[in-house]
Amino acid sequence: MKTNELMGTSEEYILHTYNRFPIVLDHGKGAYLYDTDGKEYLDFAAGIAVCALGHSNPEYLDALKGQMDKLMHVSNLYYNEPMMEAGKKLIDASGMDKVFFTNSGTEAIEGALKAAKKYAAQRDGHSGHEIIAMEHSFHGRSVGALSVTGNAHYREPFEPLMGGVKFAEFNNLESVEKLITDKTCAVILETVQGEGGIYPADPAFLQGVRRICDEHDIVMILDEIQCGMGRCGRYFAWQEYGVQPDIMTCAKALGGGVPVGAFVMNHKVAAASLEPGDHGTTYGGNPFVCAAVSKVFDLFEQYNLISHVQELTPYLEQKLSGIAEKYDCISGRRGKGFMQGLVITGRPVGEVIARAMENGLLVISAGSDVLRLVPPLIITKEQIDEMAEKLEKSLA
Ligand SMILES: *Cc1c(COP(=O)(O)O)cnc(C)c1O
Repeated sequence: MKTNELMGTSEEYILHTYNRFPIVLDHGKGAYLYDTDGKEYLDFAAGIAVCALGHSNPEYLDALKGQMDKLMHVSNLYYNEPMMEAGKKLIDASGMDKVFFTNSGTEAIEGALKAAKKYAAQRDGHSGHEIIAMEHSFHGRSVGALSVTGNAHYREPFEPLMGGVKFAEFNNLESVEKLITDKTCAVILETVQGEGGIYPADPAFLQGVRRICDEHDIVMILDEIQCGMGRCGRYFAWQEYGVQPDIMTCAKALGGGVPVGAFVMNHKVAAASLEPGDHGTTYGGNPFVCAAVSKVFDLFEQYNLISHVQELTPYLEQKLSGIAEKYDCISGRRGKGFMQGLVITGRPVGEVIARAMENGLLVISAGSDVLRLVPPLIITKEQIDEMAEKLEKSLA
């Protein structure tokens, strides 16, 4: 089928919840994608921060194919070896204690919220607790996750959502303190806000939230779905802040492209929250996705991906800051590691993204005016140069 025909057929059958870019992606190799017309794109979107290993990594694919031939799915009624391996690797990387595998980031958020509520209900002998979330946050589109998402435009058509949620200002500790009551059971935040516009937490803010949570026995939930898995130069972005959450959520890059998420807890919460019968999922943690997760961790180690991100981050930041200074339509750069944003104020960000696509570079937006770059973690210095060249061509 011709590209136009494919897009037409897609619009005929697939519910229109996305305004898609007018290309049909067909295959990929490393940091490059190819459309059905054979055009090449340097991929600085990575399926929204998912494809950390790039596309079609042969070792990753071999591991998946091997597991496929052996066992795809058995349900959570039985043990399976890949889940045990993936779980151990995630616990080792995070230094936390217990993991529950889910099918998506949203579902990891749901589990984290339930665990926090159960922890408080068990401690207090009653339910009815409240949660503090952040303005401009993004945690997903299900009813629970949407309830803690700080974007009124996403929430309003679906209200009433889950009750008992209050929004504080990100990076403003006083605004969090003001909302604490004896009913507060959790504070949920992204270590680096992604969809909201690439805002890293200030160290003092994150440490302050940790202190407040400790003082009041409140569960601190860090959403690492986008900023985790090496993207910010550590396995998890919070590891650089000297704080550890009580619950962390992961997804996106966790499976390198298979649909998988996880919520991970410390002993305190794990020992006094979800018990048999409290939570479940049919697919979550099945052998196929867990073989992928397990291989992702192996390849992170084999390729020294975290050090690679640390080593190349100054170069990426310097390139982007240089571009930000050169073009009047860019008012600044912010981000951490390979999670970077350029604030485009002089023209619509969508226009720059469309021109970049024409020039063979895939980038995405965040918030209303941020051009977001979340490349595969395997990118090279030369590919950063190529990105900068294509981006400049799109800004000129
Ligand atoms: C993408 C994202 C989610 C939702 O994950 P899904 O896999 O799309 O359900 C939640 N939180 C953050 C920070 C995200 O970036």
